[in-house]
Amino acid sequence: MGNFYVVATPIGNLEDITLRALRVLKEVDVIVCEDTRVTKRLLERYEVKDKQLTTYNERQSGSSIPKILAFLNEGKNVALVSDAGTPTVSDPGAFLINKAREAGATIISIPGPNAAIAALSISGLPSSDFLFLGFLPHKKGRETLFKEIAALKRTVVFYESPHRIMKALISLKKFLTSGRKIFVARELTKIYEEGVLGTADELIAYFEKNKEKIRGEFVVLVEPL
Ligand code: SAM
Repeated sequence: MGNFYVVATPIGNLEDITLRALRVLKEVDVIVCEDTRVTKRLLERYEVKDKQLTTYNERQSGSSIPKILAFLNEGKNVALVSDAGTPTVSDPGAFLINKAREAGATIISIPGPNAAIAALSISGLPSSDFLFLGFLPHKKGRETLFKEIAALKRTVVFYESPHRIMKALISLKKFLTSGRKIFVARELTKIYEEGVLGTADELIAYFEKNKEKIRGEFVVLVEPL
């Protein structure tokens, strides 16, 4: 039975990859990825050549799982990567990992970048006790969730898209007690990386004034009550 490696890859800057991740990607027989075009860019940058790549998408997992389990059964070592960061964190992979474990494969972590932890680490907000919510629901339950976030006594971290970042700040403004800080991390590790700390009012004013900054990838953190 082959090993199943869960390999974290960069969240933007391709230099953010561990030596061990590169060695594992060079040594495994098969790399399971979300989008082969994204993974190929990383492999080309580090001259990882002649790899068998196969895609995995949790929604269409039916056909790819037997194929991946067959590789493991043949004794092939498999690495799972996502487009960015740590696989399975707001990304596909958990179902596949369970299937691989059930089949008898050893699951091995190759830790590395994660956008939530990177944002937390530069936020200056309490970081020993935090709640990670991934992507919030778009409609149903969204406002209730913001209300609940506002009542929490621990730092809350969530992922947000550029289309909804202003809406999220407006909802937070509605529920947060005055003076509560929010940290917005944008485009971490990339050219336009920035971290902005302020109240909901201050952040809304900031993004209204700098509309060109409402693009890219965002992590939002809310100060505890
Ligand atoms: N698995 C990834 C991880 O470990 O962080 C997260 C994947 S999730 C599909 C993608 C979301 O993560 C983006 O929409 C954004 O909210 C956040 N994200 C990913 N890369 C980021 C970056 N460089 N800067 C800020 N947020 C990022």
